[in-house]
Amino acid sequence: MDRFQHYIDGRFEDGTAHFPSLDPATGEPWAEMPMAGAADVHRAVEAAHRAFLGPAWSGLTASARGKLLFKLADLVQAAAPRLAALETRDTGKIIRETSAQIAYVAEYYRYYAGLADKIEGAHLPIDKPDMEVWLRREPVGVVAAIVPWNSQLFLSAVKLGPALAAGCTVVLKASEDGPAPLLEFAKLVHEAGFPPGVVNVLTGGPEAGQALTTHPKVAHIAFTGGPETARHIVRASAENLSKTSLELGGKSPFIVFEDADLDSAANAQVAGIFAATGQSCVAGSRHLVQRSVKEQMLARLTEKAKAVAIGAPDRMETEIGPLCTRRQRDRIQSLVDASVAAGARLVTGGVTPEGPGFYYPPTILDCSEAPDAPVLRQECFGPVLAVTAFDTEDQALAMANDTAYGLASGVFTRSLTRAHRMIRGIRAGIVWVNTYRAVSPIAPFGGHGLSGHGREGGMAAALDYTTVKTVWLRTSDDPIPDPFVMR
Ligand code: NAD
Repeated sequence: MDRFQHYIDGRFEDGTAHFPSLDPATGEPWAEMPMAGAADVHRAVEAAHRAFLGPAWSGLTASARGKLLFKLADLVQAAAPRLAALETRDTGKIIRETSAQIAYVAEYYRYYAGLADKIEGAHLPIDKPDMEVWLRREPVGVVAAIVPWNSQLFLSAVKLGPALAAGCTVVLKASEDGPAPLLEFAKLVHEAGFPPGVVNVLTGGPEAGQALTTHPKVAHIAFTGGPETARHIVRASAENLSKTSLELGGKSPFIVFEDADLDSAANAQVAGIFAATGQSCVAGSRHLVQRSVKEQMLARLTEKAKAVAIGAPDRMETEIGPLCTRRQRDRIQSLVDASVAAGARLVTGGVTPEGPGFYYPPTILDCSEAPDAPVLRQECFGPVLAVTAFDTEDQALAMANDTAYGLASGVFTRSLTRAHRMIRGIRAGIVWVNTYRAVSPIAPFGGHGLSGHGREGGMAAALDYTTVKTVWLRTSDDPIPDPFVMR
């Protein structure tokens, strides 16, 4: 079996314990992963803290930091086929997606490489004579980056890129489900020549997560995962009042009006819910369709769902692979069963197949007569689409916003004025109009409500890893006249 290691303080090492990682396509163990305990986490944070203060990193110019990130980007691009194969093997995400996504991950590192020497302070036109006042943008310190199993290279790039560009150091905790691609990525960090301790990569479960998020030397916790874990993290952050940014789940509405290009909408919806076997935080999992075209849309979606090529994730022709874990599949099945019991009509899929691996078929439920069906409310994180009908634009908006989440949304219409009204009215961090699931390093990404807070991508993310220092410099050589009056 393959064996992976942690990367702490510039060295590769075994964890204090190990655990087997299962191949989701077969359910069989294929690799040994190190399991970080509290002591490993402690050493990693101490290393990151030493590196943060040490001259090898803090003495680098911003442009030099950028050059290291450019080097990392090139290495990620060159290693993309290897990383993609590992992610596919360890998480079940299909090779077609991992190949394309990891090649694009290199662009995130490039974007932040170029941005490193553009994080500027400011000079203030202060309201006092003989005084210069300016703001320095300084890195916050050690960042704890915690990611879930899906798209780990992508979700870590949106944290590492801006954090390193800003001058922070990082302890990155890979998910205990499918950590292979991040542990392999650590070799590229090493090869790029980052000073020891600047980036540390380990894996482990809640114990490691708890040790990391309560560590007094962690200044910022950048988390992607579910809302329940986020609650633990916010409580943990209270210990040291560390800053948090939270990218959580969603129950994103995909809204189709009768004037839309229905073929485009159907293609975008299928990709929006079944890509990554539905394990996507921005999955368009609620299909809200105008009643006059509901049957037409349902027919198109059902036909496409039935035609999806399900199979081994390492084959280029596969369109849906297995879910990452058996636990995840069992959870999805119970949400589907509970929704049928609540009155939802199963249109296609909905039954766990026999055989090896953690497969689940593309599933569509018509929830028009079941407004309380769990699949309309709770994130499934699987290939499950809940369809429901509306009559008017106001109804569509009310239904779209009837959720505790607020991450993404999609609107399909040919009416420009309606599109603008929907853009204004939808409460979500992202609105896609006549498209879905487009992302870019240039565009901020994130949500509100149960979808979290903070933004990844764009300049705002880099600024989020900085703190402002206000500097006052008196420019007069005259003695300070009065000791008791502050000016
Ligand atoms: P999860 O919350 O169970 O786990 C995420 C990470 O948190 C893992 O690394 C896990 O080990 C760690 N963790 C667990 N307990 C912890 C604790 N007590 N303290 C600190 N860390 C702890 O999430 P998951 O089920 O692995 O991933 C799926 C979730 O992630 C979904 O809700 C999905 O929507 C969300 N997600 C969000 C985005 C986004 O950008 N908004 C992207 C992808 C996934």
